[in-house]
Amino acid sequence: MSIAIALDGPAGAGKSSIAKRAAKALDYIYVDTGALYRTIGLAATRKGVEPVDSPEVNQLLSEINVDLTFNEAGEQIVLLDGEDVSGLIRTPEASMTASKISQIPAVRAYLLDLQRNMAKNHNVIMDGRDIGTVVLPDAQVKIFLTASPEARAGRRYKELVEKGMDVKYEDILQDVITRDYSDTHRETSPLKPAEGCVIVDTTELDFEQSVEKIISVIKENI
Ligand code: C5P
Repeated sequence: MSIAIALDGPAGAGKSSIAKRAAKALDYIYVDTGALYRTIGLAATRKGVEPVDSPEVNQLLSEINVDLTFNEAGEQIVLLDGEDVSGLIRTPEASMTASKISQIPAVRAYLLDLQRNMAKNHNVIMDGRDIGTVVLPDAQVKIFLTASPEARAGRRYKELVEKGMDVKYEDILQDVITRDYSDTHRETSPLKPAEGCVIVDTTELDFEQSVEKIISVIKENI
């Protein structure tokens, strides 16, 4: 039987970079589910469909194909109708569209099987918002990774500046706060710690300490 680690938490808590490193150390596959919501958001933007619950979004879902694959380095590639959109979905605009589109129940239902199938076939660390609560409620280990909004905004700001993007810290902090609110207040699969999860707060931890902490929580619980 494969092993599943559910890793949930708010935007910018460091889930993806921490999980990537932990997955490598443990020889698991790292699955970033946010990329799937971002990809549906991109598809909507491209087709001029508003990210609101509507027949147009249902129509869009029936027309597109979203899939995950991995390159030789083991990095996740997300495909929209066969096109690698992994880079295109990493902008602040794509974050906001993803946050809006992820509130639509039909979008969440559309992505459920794809996420569960990944965990059926591989040992995974799956990162998202509702992995421990909805997608993989039977995961062997559930972790809720969090940090203060300011710490999270500061990290995301640094990441985007390093990629050469022209962004302001205040705008990023506002985005973090707005996304936290919509992620925790939506009706379908709101962000909340899963029953039986281990809460890890990384506000005072640096990257290496966070990775160590996550690996030790996983090892203690499998
Ligand atoms: O993790 P990331 O920031 O890439 O996620 C983008 C958006 O997708 C989040 O703001 C969140 O609203 C949504 N999301 C979700 N459920 C997941 C993963 C992401 O609702 N499992």
